[in-house]
Amino acid sequence: MSNRMDDIVSLCKRRGFVFQSSEIYGGLSSAWDYGPLGVELKNRLQRFWWREMTQLNDNIVGLDAAIMMHPRVWEASGHVESFADLLVEDTVTNERFRWDHLPEENRRTMTSPAGNPLSEPRQFNLMFKTYLGPVAESGSEVYLRPETAQGIYVNFKNVVQTSRLKLPFGIAQVGKAFRNEIVTKNFIFRTCEFEQLEMQYFVHPSEDNKWFEYWKDQRMEYYHKLGIRPDRLRFEEHGPDELAHYAKAAFDIQYEFPFGWQELEGVHNRTDYDLRRHSEYSGKDLRYLDDATGDRFIPYIVETSAGLTRSVLMVIADAYEEEEIAENDSRVVLRLHPEIAPITVGVFPLVKKDGLAERAREIERELRDDFTTFYDQSGAIGRRYRRQDEIGTPFGVTIDYETMEENTVTLRMRDSMEQVRVPVPELAERIRREIKNYKRV
Ligand code: ATP
Repeated sequence: MSNRMDDIVSLCKRRGFVFQSSEIYGGLSSAWDYGPLGVELKNRLQRFWWREMTQLNDNIVGLDAAIMMHPRVWEASGHVESFADLLVEDTVTNERFRWDHLPEENRRTMTSPAGNPLSEPRQFNLMFKTYLGPVAESGSEVYLRPETAQGIYVNFKNVVQTSRLKLPFGIAQVGKAFRNEIVTKNFIFRTCEFEQLEMQYFVHPSEDNKWFEYWKDQRMEYYHKLGIRPDRLRFEEHGPDELAHYAKAAFDIQYEFPFGWQELEGVHNRTDYDLRRHSEYSGKDLRYLDDATGDRFIPYIVETSAGLTRSVLMVIADAYEEEEIAENDSRVVLRLHPEIAPITVGVFPLVKKDGLAERAREIERELRDDFTTFYDQSGAIGRRYRRQDEIGTPFGVTIDYETMEENTVTLRMRDSMEQVRVPVPELAERIRREIKNYKRV
């Protein structure tokens, strides 16, 4: 891992974004808990996505399906048969690798990165299996879902009937997914339990290419809106031999993490594969009736599938900067978009005495209605600013002696460190405006 990645992991722990799971017992490999700031960031990121997909599109609705589903779902979807990675082992150290993640040279020579012989590749299904009910017996097996998408497909008919949506339309869902990954690494990038942000868009089969292109563009645009550096984002097309069993076309949106370019989101043309298979396996007619033409057909699906927990790492990595601000003075700053920053406004009395602390408390309470606030009166003001910069708080409000006389405060912008004087009655409105017009410097 690069130093930059070490710095990010250390900040996440030190400031309470992400902790190792069950740390007091020595930790569980590759499982992570989201601390007070991490859960705020994750929730906000989820809301940002949800608003973008559902609120700003009048033909996309939400769903929250159960994690456990009828076992036949995973037979129909093809996961029981083919949701597998090829596993190889270093025959000396027993270290395991995903075959498709090994460098070409190692695969050709069948040697591990340590130079030892590799075992023959064997299939390893990624689904976690468990049992429903008190007895572990065949027939009661269920799987923890490896993707949220299937919950959407099996509810397709329910949603059409209850919401009276017409094609094209989408169903969005956020939730946990589980994969027994052969190798988990890079902090929260690849874990066995993670969260996905998925949207399935149902279209007429003759329009699949058009909507595929549309969603590809929209999803890249979303990351730009989120303030992610465009030079760290790119598309990567899946070649014919890389396509998943259900896909006709697939593009990944990749981000340049400190450990290299990696997938952030997949945009897939899944054709009519999923609904056709569920129709066959369930015996239910899942065709869509076009009222205007009287045609019945199985819609094609364009899927946008992103990782929420992976996005948390991406936004932190993208926002993280160490900068010199004066001779012998530097700061760590997280340039998070204000809409996802865990705390929006820090409130600081310049000093505790002469009624400044009480006035600062009052102002903070007023701001709470509209923003997540944090009150801090301890230490030099510069240090208090730095503590907030480090966790990405976009605005700082300082109460000083002028506040007591003229009812104005200093509003400090995290990115530029610029300070402006604002009358207290106009403060909330001014912050709202700054959030709306936010552009990353
Ligand atoms: P890979 O080949 O890297 O294992 P994938 O191409 O199978 O992943 P998808 O099935 O397309 O991944 O999953 C959609 C999204 O879900 C990914 O872009 C990623 O953001 C997220 N995701 C998938 N697996 C994991 C994981 N193990 N940990 C965290 N996020 C994940």
